[in-house]
This record gives sequence, structure tokens and C-alpha cells, in this order.
Amino acid sequence: MNHLFHAESVQSTESVPESKAMSHVFHRSAKQTPPVATRGEGGYIFDKAGKPYLDGSGGAAVSCLGHSDPDVIAAIKAQADAIPFAHTGFFTSEPAERLADRLIAHAPEGLDKVYFVSGGSEAVEAALKMARQYFVEIGEESRGRFIARRQSYHGNTLGALGTGGNAWRRAQFQPLMVETSHIAPCYAYRGQEDGEDLVAYGQRVADELEAELLRVGPETVIGFIAEPVVGATMGAVPAVPGYFKRIREICDRYGILMILDEVMCGMGRTGTLFACEQDGVSPDIVTIAKGLGAGYQPIGATLCTARIFDAFQNGSGFFQHGHTYIGHPMATAAADVVVTKLTDGGMAARAADMGEKLGAALFEAFGQHPHIGDIRGRGMFRGLEIVADRETKAPFDPALGINKKVKAAAFEAGLICYPMGGTIDGVQGDHVLLAPPFILTDDQLGELVDKLGQAFGAVL
Ligand code: PMP
Repeated sequence: MNHLFHAESVQSTESVPESKAMSHVFHRSAKQTPPVATRGEGGYIFDKAGKPYLDGSGGAAVSCLGHSDPDVIAAIKAQADAIPFAHTGFFTSEPAERLADRLIAHAPEGLDKVYFVSGGSEAVEAALKMARQYFVEIGEESRGRFIARRQSYHGNTLGALGTGGNAWRRAQFQPLMVETSHIAPCYAYRGQEDGEDLVAYGQRVADELEAELLRVGPETVIGFIAEPVVGATMGAVPAVPGYFKRIREICDRYGILMILDEVMCGMGRTGTLFACEQDGVSPDIVTIAKGLGAGYQPIGATLCTARIFDAFQNGSGFFQHGHTYIGHPMATAAADVVVTKLTDGGMAARAADMGEKLGAALFEAFGQHPHIGDIRGRGMFRGLEIVADRETKAPFDPALGINKKVKAAAFEAGLICYPMGGTIDGVQGDHVLLAPPFILTDDQLGELVDKLGQAFGAVL
């Protein structure tokens, strides 16, 4: 038996390898071997023992179409039969061209070109380098740093991690980080002052961008990067009305690029294909991944405006960046079907409708719960903040590991949800992130809320 199997872990014993030495996979949780997923059906994943798990978080906001979409699978098979791979140093492919056209047809105004990669961190990495090279191309070489927000996650590669503001993830890699300053997140639950209305709060925190630009010198800054709806580090926190419009104005005033990271909140997750549509802004660069491939293929993309692309075209003519698998034909073929379903197939609109129902059900079940301080989010992207005391908003002692216990109890009950803990703008807190497949039925949404209630009942 695996002697490092923890009693409170989320594993089921059937699928744990006989001994630690038997698994040569470097599992991220180095002390645990997770159960083996063998089958997917709609919104459920089955482990080797046949236990069903309702996928209440789409993994990490990935599986927007569930786990057995026949059209996406057929597109992958057809592309594998035609041509699985052709290096972009020599060729483009039909699915990559088709997908880029489709994304741009539905993208916020001004976005015109798509750079494909294989995942979210790569999309952010490409965005950061594209932004820097853009300024090199136009002769503004003094720009060499970013501004981001304290509570944010942009990926685990060094550039993305460097701009991300999550102290716990960054701590041991500090010497390797790109130069970034961090301003406050837009987080009304804890940030709004007594008597301050939401719009005034949003303007106040957005104005921190201007103050930071003036402090470091605008001519040294490449861009500002933020998630329109913050995912992993805070649990589905949208900005307040007007916040991103103000950010847009400040970026324009000082000539820096506005980069939105929609890796988690994009692709219909919040009820519109791009989350920033609901904030009424168009970024200079936007990153997407996760829901783009819906879990069927690893794919991400970085979209930019014609102004940025033109600088490359009229300048060196070459983006000094790239990976072997960019624009992979099987990945782009899968994503093209996914995006077609999200747009023409009405799946993003369904995320808006079902998300309203999910939000209402969460309020009904947990709106008065003594340990749920805040319920928030948009569409099929919802977060619940767990607190020790609703009145004071005091969090639980982090040593209690509340979020890990909720994850384990939910998993035991057959529900996958995405609880996280960590410092939320100076406060150590716990939250649960929900990001279910958009295809879930009303009954399955009910099952999700019931099982989450069981998990809370066992832990809180
Ligand atoms: N940006 C955001 C907003 C994310 O949520 C994530 C992943 N959670 C990433 C970037 C990194 O994506 P990936 O894990 O696919 O590299």
C-alpha cells in the first residue's frame, strides 16, 4: 500500500498504486496519488472503481461541454486521419485558420489576430512577450515592466508567475520574477469602505493604477494585466461596474497596453464568449485557454489588435517567440467545434441561463449559512467565501485547512469542486470555486448544491 496516503485526502483506495514506487508519474501533490479517471459521461467522471463524480468545477474551469461531446471527439478523429501535425515553421492548417476567423468574428472590437499556444500559462507568456516586443518594434525600449494586481493568478511559467500577485505561489521563485508592481484587486466584499458606493469604490481602486504609473514612470511600463473575473486566487470575483472602463482610460492616457487574462473566465464561462464584454471594454491583448479546448485538447490563444500586429509587420516582421506545438491541427480542430457550440450552438447563452439558476440555488441554500460570508460570480462561474464569522468576516485559522477539508468531503460525496485558500489581500481566507459544464441539467445543478451542502455539513 501507499504509505503516504493521508486519511483526510481525497483518494479512493481502489485506485492507489500498490506501492509508492509503482507510480513513476511525478504527481504535483507529491504525497498523494489520486484515483484513476477511466471514463467520462456528460457532467460526470468515473474512477476505476466505477464511482461517479459530478464535475462541479469542470476540473479547473475547463470542461465546459462535459466529458463526452461526440462532435468534438469526431473532429479530433477526422483531423488525426487527415493530418495530425504540421510544424508552423512551414505550414498553417485549415482548422487553425478557421478557428482564428471564428474567434475574431466574436471577439471584442479591435482584436484582429490570434496567436495559438498549448495552454493558459503559454498564452500569458506569449502576451507578455508580444507586449514587450511591440514596444521594441515601435522604438519605446524603455518600457520593461508590468503592473498587475495583488490577488491574481496568471499561470505558473516564470513570466506569468512573475506578473501574478499570489504571494504563496511566488514566494520561493522570487529571484526569477519579471519586474512587476502590484496594486489592489477589485474586491468589494473586503475592500469597500463604509458608506462608499460600489462605483466610487471601483474608481478608487482603479486609480491605484494611475498612482503606480506615476510612481514608477509611465515610460517604463509595458502594460497592466488583470483577470476580468478573478478565478483561482479569490473564487469568481467580478469587478464592480465601471472599474475596467476606468482602467481602460488610464491605460490609454499613459500609452500602456491593457492585457486581460481570460484563461479561466473566458469562453462562455461567465455567460458571454469573452468575459470583458460584460464590462464594456476591449483590451489590447486577451488570453484564453481552458474552455477553448474544453479539456478535449490542450490549447490556448493570445489575441491582439491590428495595431500591435502591424508593428510587427512593419518592423522586424518576426515575433521572437514560439513553441513546437503552436496551432496544432488536432487541437485547433477540436477548439473550432467548441467555439462553434459556444456561439452558434448557444452554449455561452446557456451558461448565462443556467448560471442564474445556480446563483439563485446557492443563495437559497447558503445565503444564511453562518460560515458563508459571500456568494458571487457570473454565469457558470461562482464562488463562495468561507468565514469563521459572518459579521466580522474573520476567516478561519489557516492551520485548520478548511478548504482542503471541504474538497475532500465533497469528493467523498461524489462532487468535484475547487476549494482554495490563501492570502486574499492580506487576509488569509478560504473559498470554493464552482465552474460546472454548461450542459448540466436542472436536476444536476440541484445535485451539485446538495452535495456541496453535505460537504459543508461535514466540515463547517
Ligand atoms: N491564467 C489564469 C487566469 C488561470 O486561471 C490559469 C490556470 N488556472 C492560468 C492563467 C494558467 O493556465 P494553465 O494552467 O493552462 O497553464
